[in-house]
Formats: sequence, C-alpha cells, structure tokens
Amino acid sequence: MKTSQALYEKAVAVLPAGVNSPVRAFRSVGGTPIFMERGEGAYLVDVDGNRYLDFCGSWGPLVLGHRHPRVTAAIEDVVSRGWTFGTPVAEEVALAEMVVDKLRAVEMVRFVNSGTEAVMSAIRLARGCTGRDRVLKFRGCYHGHVDYLLVDAGSGLATFGTASSAGVPEAFARLTATMPLNDPAGLAQLFESLGGELAAVVIEGVPANNGLLVQTPEYVAQLRELCDRYGCLLIFDEVLSGFRMPKVMAYEQYGVSPDLITMGKVIGGGMPVGAYGGRAEIMQRIAPLGDVYQAGTLSGNPVAMAAGYATLREYYESDVPGRIEELGGHLDRGMQDALSSVAEMGYLRQGSLFWLYFHRDEAPRAAEDISGQGAEVYARLHRFMLEHSIYLAPSSYEVGFLNTAMTEADLDRFVEVLRAAVKEGLVQ
Ligand code: PMP
Repeated sequence: MKTSQALYEKAVAVLPAGVNSPVRAFRSVGGTPIFMERGEGAYLVDVDGNRYLDFCGSWGPLVLGHRHPRVTAAIEDVVSRGWTFGTPVAEEVALAEMVVDKLRAVEMVRFVNSGTEAVMSAIRLARGCTGRDRVLKFRGCYHGHVDYLLVDAGSGLATFGTASSAGVPEAFARLTATMPLNDPAGLAQLFESLGGELAAVVIEGVPANNGLLVQTPEYVAQLRELCDRYGCLLIFDEVLSGFRMPKVMAYEQYGVSPDLITMGKVIGGGMPVGAYGGRAEIMQRIAPLGDVYQAGTLSGNPVAMAAGYATLREYYESDVPGRIEELGGHLDRGMQDALSSVAEMGYLRQGSLFWLYFHRDEAPRAAEDISGQGAEVYARLHRFMLEHSIYLAPSSYEVGFLNTAMTEADLDRFVEVLRAAVKEGLVQ
C-alpha cells in the first residue's frame, strides 16, 4: 500500500480530505482510501498492483464492468476526431433516439452533465409548468447536492425541511417538504394540507442511497394518484435505479407512469452525464422552445454520448437485465446459505443492486427503520473484504453493484469470503 498511502498524504494537502466526493474518504469505515490505477472487467487494480473484485462499480455507471471493448472502441473513435465542439453532434441524437425508443416514459430528453443537474433541472421544469414552488422529497432519498434537496425533516407534522448542510439558506430548505418513505397514511395527510402547493414530488425509483428501501407497488400507486388529484408532477429519480432493474427502469417495475424521469450513471457509460425526460408537452417548456432556462457548455458532448450509446446498445443487444438476473439469482442462493446462521445481517437484492443490512426482522422500507448499530460491524467486514481482495462501498448505507463482467465464480468467491468472516465471528 506504499504508493497509495503516499498519494493520500499528498492528496490531503490539496484536496479536502484528499477526495472530490465525501464518501470516498473512508470516514465511516476507517483507514485511508485506496488509490486505483486501472479497471479490468469486474476488477479494480490499485496503484500498488493489488487486484479487487469491484462491487462499487464507480457508484453505478459500469453495468458492463470496466473497459467493455464496445464502449472503449466508441470512446476512442470519438476522441480521435475531437471531444467537444459546442455544436449539435450525431452522437447525442443517437443516444436520445435510443432513450426515447426504449423508455415508455420519455418522449423527449435533455442531456446534462451529472445526476445532480438532472434532478435540479427537472424540478425547475416542474415549477415552471405548475407555477408552484414547493416540492416533496422523502427522507433517506438522495437526489444530488442541490440546495433545496439537502434537507432534513423539520419539526411538526406537515414538515418543511431544515437544511442538512451548512450553506443552504433556510429559505430554500423551507420550499421542500420531507416525510418518511412507506407511510401511506402520512402521505394522504400531507397532500391534504400541502398538495395544492406542490410543484413536484421527487422519489428515487428504488431508494438506494440510504440502504435499499424497496417501496410497495401500492404505495407508489397512491403517490401517482395523489399527484394527479392535486395537479403536481411525479418525478422518478432513476439516476441510480435506471438500467439496474429486471424491467430496466424502476417505474416499469412498479407499473407507474411518472411525468418526468431523471437519469445518470449508466446512461453515460461512466462519462459525466445526466438526463431528464418525459412527455413532449412538458419537455417543450425547456429553453429555447419554452420559458424554463437550462444550459450546459459540455452538455451532450460526443465522448459522453458515445459512451452512453455504446453501453445501452450492448445492454439491450446482449440482454443485460436477463444476465443480471442469472448472476443475481446465483448470488442470492450463496448469500442466503452463508447468512443462514447470522442474526444481525441480512441481504437484499433488486436487479443489479444489493444491500447488506443490519436489521433483525424484515428488510427496512424507510430510513427510520435502519439500525445505526450496523455501521461498526460493516466497518470490520469492509476491512476484512479488502484484505481478501473484495472492494465494497465504504459505507453501510451504500448498495453493492453487480455487472455483466462478473462471473458466477467471482460471486462464489465473494460468498466464500463472507463465510470466512462469519466463521471468524466478524458478523454474528
Ligand atoms: N440522484 C440519485 C438517485 C443518485 O443516486 C445520485 C448520485 N448517487 C444523484 C441523484 C446525483 O448524481 P451525481 O452524483 O451524478 O450528481
């Protein structure tokens, strides 16, 4: 770990905590972050030459694994011609056509550069369309680092938020109402008092940024019905869940029709991309067609568009969701067996996302149901996994990502290491 440690020591002098995104700093598992040098299919290789089976997958984009040949070729082809022109390019039309063709909820799409931008822009659009300012979000859902979405519960029943980050004006936070997930009665009550003021409700397709909090179809249907009744838009944030579900998108999984969806991660194949899309009549409100302004110097740049297009072509042509279900089923069986004698930890999977959770009974459906005690056990497990060449996300609140570069043998090894951790009493 010599080179990695040396890099870390240099990094902390010039980058806050040595990183450019907080969770990478290993604060919740301890130790120092590992600097990576290469990706090879299902594996990461660090700057000291150690190889890890990678369940972080760059936090979601790499559904085909690292450096899939088709994606590599697409990127190299574009780069050989130039990488940004600030003009329309064929690559963005190809990706947009693919998205519109494949996704029932999208008649038109606009590309941006991150998931944060996608959600921020979709909410501006919803506000523009409805002429209302307030939005509702759910505790435990993450939608990027937009001011008015970094909001915790306020006090009182129909809660308006209070800022969860310094630097967020309370006046912005108060535009956001927050409530727990999976609370049908609370939802009905909140709409009764606030429904007429809401521009949008934003929910993660499958909430997966605070554990994997799977919602029931009945709850999602109730949400759709209330949005319709009160004339506010339903935004499915599929930045993380998009292209990760057995039916591709979470809204298909639930059989619901959101007004707008936001995307990111997979849709850029690992390049910086976000997107928002929905019905044409809504999307036509975006500038320059309409009065809702949103722009971007590098939006739709050909490298990102080509990487996304190559990823999605491969995704559909080689039936990635089908292959993921095979791999996932294999992992499910191994995990259930390995954890059969374990009381404090459970395993849950949805498509290519899985979560090791610390809860005695059934899997949590709301952030409030998660036991904080798991963090310490997870930190020990995380260290043990690293020692055995397995790279998990450095926080117990994060999910693991499967990809199609993984094999059954890779997953068997993961299960074996988990068994060894159980045997050593790290998890009980
Ligand atoms: N929405 C969701 C559901 C996400 O998971 C994330 C990132 N984890 C974001 C928005 C923000 O995306 P980005 O980090 O690309 O800004």
